[in-house]
Amino acid sequence: MKPYAPVPYSDFAEDSPRESYEAALASIAAQLPGQAPLIIGGEVRETASSIASVNPAKPDILIANAGSASAEDADAALAAAWEAFPAWAATPAAERAEIVHRIGDIMEERIHEFSGWMTLEAGKNYAESEADTAEAIDFCRYYAHQALEMDQPVRLLEFPGETNESFLMPLGAGIVIPPWNFPLAILCGMAVGPVAAGNTVVLKPASNTPMIGAMFMEAAIAAGVPPGVINYLPGSGGVIGDALVDDPRTRFVNFTGSKEVGLRIAERSATVHPGQRWLKRSYMEMGGKDALIVDDTADLAAAAADAVRSAYGFQGQKCSACSRLILVEEVYDEVLDRILDLTANLAVGPAVDNCAVGPVISAAQHTSILSEIESGKGEAALVAGGSAIDLDGGYYIEPTIFADVSPNSRLGQHEIFGPVLSVIKAADFEDALAIANGTEFGLTGGLHSTSEENIQRAIRDFHVGNLYLNRKITGALVGIQPFGGFNMSGSNSKAGGPGYLRLFMEMKSVARRL
Ligand code: NDP
Repeated sequence: MKPYAPVPYSDFAEDSPRESYEAALASIAAQLPGQAPLIIGGEVRETASSIASVNPAKPDILIANAGSASAEDADAALAAAWEAFPAWAATPAAERAEIVHRIGDIMEERIHEFSGWMTLEAGKNYAESEADTAEAIDFCRYYAHQALEMDQPVRLLEFPGETNESFLMPLGAGIVIPPWNFPLAILCGMAVGPVAAGNTVVLKPASNTPMIGAMFMEAAIAAGVPPGVINYLPGSGGVIGDALVDDPRTRFVNFTGSKEVGLRIAERSATVHPGQRWLKRSYMEMGGKDALIVDDTADLAAAAADAVRSAYGFQGQKCSACSRLILVEEVYDEVLDRILDLTANLAVGPAVDNCAVGPVISAAQHTSILSEIESGKGEAALVAGGSAIDLDGGYYIEPTIFADVSPNSRLGQHEIFGPVLSVIKAADFEDALAIANGTEFGLTGGLHSTSEENIQRAIRDFHVGNLYLNRKITGALVGIQPFGGFNMSGSNSKAGGPGYLRLFMEMKSVARRL
């Protein structure tokens, strides 16, 4: 295995990568609809009903027919995961690592194809899609290396008259439940981490994006992941989620998604059911209300550009997206003017045309975001956007800015998860920091400043899992910015960080008298 380094991004302003991306899109369009069936124990399993995955830019285009798992399918998937577990756990770490690394290699060989499916199924433009695929590849490679590290002897102190050793071993069969917003990166990372460590999983993709998960499964099978090690279980979380989480055979739950669902899983996975022989490990990575602070020493042009990039990349549908821009009084008017200008120039349109802002993911999200905007009008000044855009029936919403938002209002506290930015005025940097820390979340945050004193204060007291200084607040790189938040943003499991695989392992210590 080569030493780990993140996959470099293409520059789609250049002809060659753009044309090759467009060719991939054309080839995918000719294959529609795709198929995303259940794969349990290596076998495709038919389901009585199906989930229709559609293009959010043109919802009458069917992207894929996905299976829709029942509670019986969930039961079979867990059984298959446990059946595969002993052999996979006993597979040498080096072999597991090679296989997981190869999943990344396969995705890299077909990078535009994987990204192209995401453009069609999730509405990500070229760069956003490629960043998602690149992150998935990075997870495979980084965790493959980490599997080798976890296999090293644990360093212990010596004790007279004994030899002592400790080693890490996998937990068993677990459940992986990703969201739709990083439909490849998060799905892949949350699955291959535990798998590289020797566990087996049931992978339930988000219902909005089952085809991208099916592409991942294709790569995993081609890479040599044995049957039953990753069981693919598309299906409604509302229908099979509780059954998977509650099952006494479930050894761990690895979840990323909304706070509401995360809290439900946290509670349910803590309950011990008849026949259960362990405490379930459960990791919940949840939402954010991420803030970027701009103080009076900042480079205002750079700050405004980073705010707009962070707020509207992938339509603001990132857990790390900037949804609060906190400006100290002295710079408030100028930064607001600058972001209004930049936002007015954002092209809204189909992701296949590589527009800066595409559709939001679904009819349900479209309705929910518009209703938040409607309620926001009663709280603050709507200064940009605020409406749906009628184009091919796609789920478009104008990039929206509310000014003079009160920190404790709904616009200042509630995660909307769409292209809506709340701009808040602070009296000074201290006030800005207090406002930034004044939500239940703590995922990402940023500061634009040239004041070393303010920067040091933010490093110490801005209570977020991922703090970004003088740059955008999205786009964490695997192995470089371990990702995961504080407070109601989740378990802080730090995806892409050095301790990730350890979360899915337990340690055995052996003492032998000489
Ligand atoms: P949801 O919580 O709605 O869904 C996440 C997953 O949970 C989906 O696979 C969903 O299935 C499943 N699910 C739904 N109900 C249940 C249930 N009762 N039991 C078990 N699983 C269930 O989140 P979204 O997919 O809408 O994702 C957006 C959210 O994710 C935002 O809040 C965002 O901030 C957060 N997020 C957090 C990240 C982080 O690292 N902290 C990263 C990315 C996103 P189905 O699709 O079938 O409903």
